Amino acid sequence: MTRHQDLENLPRVDRDHLIGLVRTLSELPGPTGQEETVQAWLAAHWRTFAAHVEVSAVNNVLAKVGGQGRRLVVMGHADEICLMVKSVSESGHLHVWPFYRDTLGRPPRWFNPASQPCLVLTDHGTIPGFIAAASGHVVGGQLSNAGGLEWNDLFIEIGASSADEVRALGIHAGCRIVWNPRMARLGDHLLVGKAMDDRAALAIATVVGESLAGRDDLAYEVWLASTVQEENGLIGASSVVDSQPFDVAINLDVGLTGDIPGPDQRDFPSRLGHGPILVHSDSSVHYTRTLIRDLAAAGDAVGAPVQHAIFQNYGSDGAELIRRGVETALLTYPTRYTHSPIETVDVRDLVGIIQLIVAFATTPRIPLV
Ligand SMILES: [Zn+2]
Repeated sequence: MTRHQDLENLPRVDRDHLIGLVRTLSELPGPTGQEETVQAWLAAHWRTFAAHVEVSAVNNVLAKVGGQGRRLVVMGHADEICLMVKSVSESGHLHVWPFYRDTLGRPPRWFNPASQPCLVLTDHGTIPGFIAAASGHVVGGQLSNAGGLEWNDLFIEIGASSADEVRALGIHAGCRIVWNPRMARLGDHLLVGKAMDDRAALAIATVVGESLAGRDDLAYEVWLASTVQEENGLIGASSVVDSQPFDVAINLDVGLTGDIPGPDQRDFPSRLGHGPILVHSDSSVHYTRTLIRDLAAAGDAVGAPVQHAIFQNYGSDGAELIRRGVETALLTYPTRYTHSPIETVDVRDLVGIIQLIVAFATTPRIPLV
């Protein structure tokens, strides 16, 4: 059970500031296993308001915002999905392999990397390019239409003309490739770009930290965390509690919606712009029921309505925290076109999450008798 404070204590979220944070964070390159740019940006920014910032050996970033009592962490992941260079052709093109354990030999239906601008992370910096495939004019007669493109049909064009030239640029097997669009705005409320998964979460966490820092009415000792290597199996999150023994976690990530042509709304009832989604269970875990209930109550109290869902074919860092004994909720912002360069979120949902978390963090929880 929760007790709610007066509505006038709620933060008015500066939308332009929030959108600027989403733009900055989503455009940073931070592929799985190479999240340094994102983590360095967060550590530097969080130091401007946090009492203490630490970086773990595996590059998780943790920031203590303030307060006393049970230790609450608001968490998102820094990494974005990526391709890896597996070899370089004599023509100066980069052959690729995905970030995950592939058993198909080709991109699955849900992953469409071709014909997109990309950024190659080299030993010396970044180089722009495109994810390419030979066009129908030159291979059309040789391919059947069955099966679609295989990984070896895709390669990276960076404008080099030989393998030696590529090597001289600091590119070799193991270098990572991310999509490279600029964030765009559509209509009055939509933000579109790469890595909304999970940088919009880290923008939310940042505004939550800014809003709570220096307040004397926190009901918890409040921390922020940005983890590494979520996309390949929740690796970074598994050691977060070895750095700091948290009691309560709110894990932030993208939420699945069915409000576009294609998905069955019986499976995906959530909609963009209709508020944060509290996730009760996903492919790997059931989230903490009492914490979900209290977050929903906090949302009600501040006029930030929530949606409730179960997510099929989905996992989050929250599972690792529950495995390690931390009471954990998964709070998501509805997102269309997940794991694409046009991940789409509604800024009103992001604002709703911020208001909900601020209300929760300043509301003492009354234990059930
Ligand atoms: Zn994610």
